[in-house]
Amino acid sequence: MNVAVLGGGVTGLTAAWKLTGAGHSVRLLEAGPRLGGAVRTDLVDGWLVEGGPNSFRESRPAIGAVMEELGLGGERIESSPAAGKRYIAWGGLLAPLPLSPRELLSTSFLPRRAKWRILREIARGPRARTEDISLGDLMRDHFGSDVVERAVQPFVSGIYAGDPERLSARHAFPWAWEAERTSGSLVRAAAADARRRRGPGGFRSAIVSFRRGLQALPAALAAKLAAGAVVLNADVRSIGPGSGARWRVCWGDPGGGREGEFDCVVSALPALSLARLEIGPGGSCPLSGLGAIEHPPVASVFVGFRRDQVQHPLDGFGALVPAAEKRSILGIVFTSSLFPGRAPADHVALTVLAGGALQPGIAGLPRDELVERVCSDLRFLLGAHGRPAFVRHTEWPRAIPQYNLGYGRHLEAMAECEARHPGLLIGGNVRDGISLPDCILSGVSLAKRVS
Ligand SMILES: Cc1cc2nc3c(=O)[nH]c(=O)nc-3n(C[C@H](O)[C@H](O)[C@H](O)COP(=O)(O)OP(=O)(O)OC[C@H]3O[C@@H](n4cnc5c(N)ncnc54)[C@H](O)[C@@H]3O)c2cc1C
Repeated sequence: MNVAVLGGGVTGLTAAWKLTGAGHSVRLLEAGPRLGGAVRTDLVDGWLVEGGPNSFRESRPAIGAVMEELGLGGERIESSPAAGKRYIAWGGLLAPLPLSPRELLSTSFLPRRAKWRILREIARGPRARTEDISLGDLMRDHFGSDVVERAVQPFVSGIYAGDPERLSARHAFPWAWEAERTSGSLVRAAAADARRRRGPGGFRSAIVSFRRGLQALPAALAAKLAAGAVVLNADVRSIGPGSGARWRVCWGDPGGGREGEFDCVVSALPALSLARLEIGPGGSCPLSGLGAIEHPPVASVFVGFRRDQVQHPLDGFGALVPAAEKRSILGIVFTSSLFPGRAPADHVALTVLAGGALQPGIAGLPRDELVERVCSDLRFLLGAHGRPAFVRHTEWPRAIPQYNLGYGRHLEAMAECEARHPGLLIGGNVRDGISLPDCILSGVSLAKRVS
């Protein structure tokens, strides 16, 4: 078949690669001048900067298999064992996040009443909710307000840059929704998962990247496509009827509009582009409702210091900063501890995220003001003194789609649009999950559905 893949992020590239492997003729149409979408790696003067995602959790065996198939096994690196700790800011100090029952009981980060709530939660029986509920409400029901304020909210900021009071438990955290239904207790369900992973045939999930950064993934995917398959600067605006049962896809580029006919169209577009896409004979935009999906702005600030400028040992993955701390930042990744070699000798690299659903205004601050605020928080939390040796700032005006309460109606709209328009398939982070592994599996599944 002759297939058009719309969008050259990780989802679209994975779909295009798998479709090419299955013998289809593929044209990948990407609006921008480069491939990779949210993945952006730069190597500048010995600093390896990730402007978008920093790493991903290889949580399913299928993801490892994709890396091997792509020939990325030798490039793949796992996070350093020295980066095992996770910190959380509370009361102006960084406390290690308790990672075992013993640490939980002894931590000073949670009050005694919260520990008591966690212990009591173990006795909960299964509960099948019919109505969706916010993640904040679900977690409060299980563990109480202290845990939501001190752990759930910053954790959600670290993943979605979102607000737990708005995110849907069912759609944004399907694990918790399902665990409540089947096990009742989230603590018991997590312990059972951990036992299964350690047991025979279990799978050890790892946090991974590549030696030369995450851009190695889109680069490896693009290298598997046929020569001439990729069209850059191709902003797809409409997909209408072509000859017979085929689709006519129209895209604009700086030199004027172009079009092509395809047996099948695979969309890996972000929500706003899907909302504006004219689909079908009438030229209407049946997915216009997707324009309402919230995408809070996020700023990613990569900051390098000489090692002796930072007092903190940086012996962990990073630190999350709860909103209650009233600082400017959401969290810090200890980039050069996580993957050594990402800063010049005797230097350290930190990646700071700011903005998100709870502080959207901060992401759009002028660069100098933002960097000033970031450095002030780094001074306060990590004892980072003096002017940074290196700064790189990436602004994401629409970072990550929020699977908020009511997201089911967007999923229904996409399913209905597919049903009404045979030969049109929709995937990507608007539908199949927001993490890189979710997007890889979305691309694999889109290609399977074509075949
Ligand atoms: C700042 C940030 C940090 C993140 N951190 C992590 C992390 O650490 N770990 C993790 O697992 N995930 C992380 N994510 C999430 C993850 O990176 C994304 O969800 C994922 O990369 C999305 O891939 P995608 O291909 O579905 O969409 P995108 O990457 O958004 O790609 C869509 C592509 O479609 C193109 N396009 C748009 N409109 C059109 C059009 N009309 N015609 C043609 N092309 C079009 C765009 O230019 C883009 O290239 C992060 C995301 C952001 C923004």
